[in-house]
Amino acid sequence: MAKIGFLGLGEMGTPMAGRLLKAGHELTVWNRSAEKAAPLAKEGAAVAATPAKASARADVVITMLATPDAFEQVLFGVEGLAAALSPGQILIDMSTVGPDEVRSAASRLPEGASLVDAPVRGSVPQATSGKLDIFVGATDSDYERVRPILEVLGAVRHAGGPGSGAAMKLVANLVLGAAIVTLGEALSLGESLELNRGIMLDVLAGSPIGPIVAAKRGNVESGQFPPSFKLRHAEKDLRLVTEAAAARGRDLKQALANRAWFDEAAERGAADLDFSAVVATIGGKPPGPTRKSTENRPQEPHGRKELRP
Ligand code: NAP
Repeated sequence: MAKIGFLGLGEMGTPMAGRLLKAGHELTVWNRSAEKAAPLAKEGAAVAATPAKASARADVVITMLATPDAFEQVLFGVEGLAAALSPGQILIDMSTVGPDEVRSAASRLPEGASLVDAPVRGSVPQATSGKLDIFVGATDSDYERVRPILEVLGAVRHAGGPGSGAAMKLVANLVLGAAIVTLGEALSLGESLELNRGIMLDVLAGSPIGPIVAAKRGNVESGQFPPSFKLRHAEKDLRLVTEAAAARGRDLKQALANRAWFDEAAERGAADLDFSAVVATIGGKPPGPTRKSTENRPQEPHGRKELRP
């Protein structure tokens, strides 16, 4: 069993750290808001006072943080993780921060420490049940070292060399953003043509965006969007997508338009709701109030599956 430092105990990080602990790994956790570490401490995790201390004696250190800025602060801020890493230690970043941030951070780590990017597709239910899809960017030797640990969390795919996992995640989330905006625009058009929403959703369930209809129909019909994958993260992901494309001279007209919808939804107060709240913004209806607990989610119809952001 490995000694693992785990930093970032949000919606995703908490169940992921819990699985590693249950699998028998020796875990030291850190979170900016310290109170979120308490449930894991009860289950046997050690709690570090700073990011730097979370790496002490660890074989690998995992980060699951909100944004590139958060990742920078945790690595290179006061009592940051990076300076505390020693030769042979591997930092596995599982956040969605994009390949440019991953490669930049890797170039600033101490000699002998390496960075593996391993962002995930799947949301809280998959993080809890160990069924995430994990896209790994790593050298062959680092991949073989991290694979047994990541397999506790889900299905592991070696996307290519360092940065490739982060790049693959941007490709996946371009598609996710397009699918939910397409659902919003389809419903908006249909409503303007006085179509019945339930019948439209039945028809769209059999279309190319069927999986997102199945996953988010409950939210759309109830007008309630309790956060599983926060809209602010989908907005951030489309920013990373469009910036990465622009930096490489690629013209992604549709992704830019989709990003504009997420920006508008966030400006109108939906940033901390589920990303499917963009459907309400597109339809011109303000989303309902945020429910903190994911337990109060509107019921998905029987047999429908959670989508994988
Ligand atoms: P979350 O619930 O918002 O948690 C974010 C984590 O980042 C928290 O631990 C938070 O600490 C920490 N953080 C934020 N700003 C920070 C800062 N400046 N310094 C230090 N720590 C900071 O996010 P999440 O849903 O777990 O997602 C984490 C990552 O996975 C994101 O990159 C997201 O895009 C990606 N992702 C999410 C999903 C999903 O369905 N939720 C699916 C796939 C990928 P505090 O607790 O102190 O705020």
